[in-house]
Amino acid sequence: MSTFFENTQQFINEAAKMAHISGDLLTRLQKPNKILEFQIPVARDNGVVEHFQGWRVQHNNALGPYKGGIRFHPDSNLDEVKALASLMTWKTSLMGIPYGGAKGAVKVDPKKLNALELEELSRGFVRAIWRDLGPQKDVPAPDVNTTSQIMDWMTDEYSKLVGEWSPATFTGKSIEKGGSRGRDVATGFGGFVVLREFLKTNSQLSVINNQLTVAIQGMGNVGAHIAELLSKNGFLVVAISDSKGAIYDPNGIDVKKILEIKESGGVLDRKLTNKELLELPVDILIPAALENVITKNNAPRIKARVILEMANGPITPEAEHELTTRGVEIIPDILANGGGVVGSYFEWVQSLEQKYWSEKEALDRIDEKMVAAFRAVADVKKEHRTTWRLASYIRAITRVAEALK
Ligand code: NAD
Repeated sequence: MSTFFENTQQFINEAAKMAHISGDLLTRLQKPNKILEFQIPVARDNGVVEHFQGWRVQHNNALGPYKGGIRFHPDSNLDEVKALASLMTWKTSLMGIPYGGAKGAVKVDPKKLNALELEELSRGFVRAIWRDLGPQKDVPAPDVNTTSQIMDWMTDEYSKLVGEWSPATFTGKSIEKGGSRGRDVATGFGGFVVLREFLKTNSQLSVINNQLTVAIQGMGNVGAHIAELLSKNGFLVVAISDSKGAIYDPNGIDVKKILEIKESGGVLDRKLTNKELLELPVDILIPAALENVITKNNAPRIKARVILEMANGPITPEAEHELTTRGVEIIPDILANGGGVVGSYFEWVQSLEQKYWSEKEALDRIDEKMVAAFRAVADVKKEHRTTWRLASYIRAITRVAEALK
């Protein structure tokens, strides 16, 4: 099986061919500008100093400072960080915001660290690479297993190192530390807006079924917020999962109640595995956990008619080919989950100006950006008679290629 980074390269190559981009310019779009690899020492509770492997990949900054999240996960590796950094370049370009793309990760299971160790790890990440960060250089944000608390620690550490308060170096901070209202819901909200716009252009779906059914893999920041928004807006959410398994009820689940149980550490009745959730007979499937979950092995058994990629890279190119041949509509990650980085952009603007907006103001602006991005992709799709993914890539790489030229 090809790697996650190779998969993203494949999408870039296909789109570049259609956009007539080749040679040196294509090579520059494919390769990351800079790769930082480092060890982070953490003094554990038992007195032993453990070193954790960290990475920051700065893929491209032709359109503005590098931008992208930091992930803490035991399976993180350089290939994954390179792929995610590349996706960020395309996402920021597609969203029409003045950023490049980057990503960071630490190979760690944060559940095995206590709060002090987690703080030490977060501060250590910043100490390792702070000279390469900054509001006009590289602006990290949260991703899988990283929270607003972690962004607050990182902002504090960076500010100490540069000798001044620098809230615009990180986004996804708590409101008290200069975060933006609406940033926590931004990714889920943006996905909801894209789905809303998509359904306007696909009226058959709503006509066949007056209440569209949805299955969501993942119940973290992204999965939980989009689940709540969809159930509040008339969709029937029938399944949702976390790493331990999926809750399923064909008559619809009470999303709010499930999230409350999960939050309070209560027991959830997990009836299905994560694999089974993906194969449910639903109208809309939303992968919102990790990459490479839909491959050529399970693609033939996927029954959903629309897949909204809220996770980054959940579908491999072979699976995409099999699904689109069968007429499944795939709304790609760089479009569907772009609301997060748009929310981050607005947080950055507020941090630079030291002005703070209401949640409504922030979400209205995200809505506007998502609609503009969706319409631009829809136009390219029509012009090139291609998939949503390739149309998104064509639009995104063309902007970066123009800036590089
Ligand atoms: P999170 O850490 O808040 O939540 C991840 C969820 O996935 C949790 O519910 C976890 O239990 C579940 N999970 C973990 N391993 C799993 C497995 N093997 N099978 C099924 N579920 C599993 O992370 P998040 O911020 O919600 O990010 C989820 C995805 O969305 C990632 O691909 C991330 O890159 C992407 N994303 C996040 C943002 C953001 O703003 N947070 C923005 C854009 C894209």
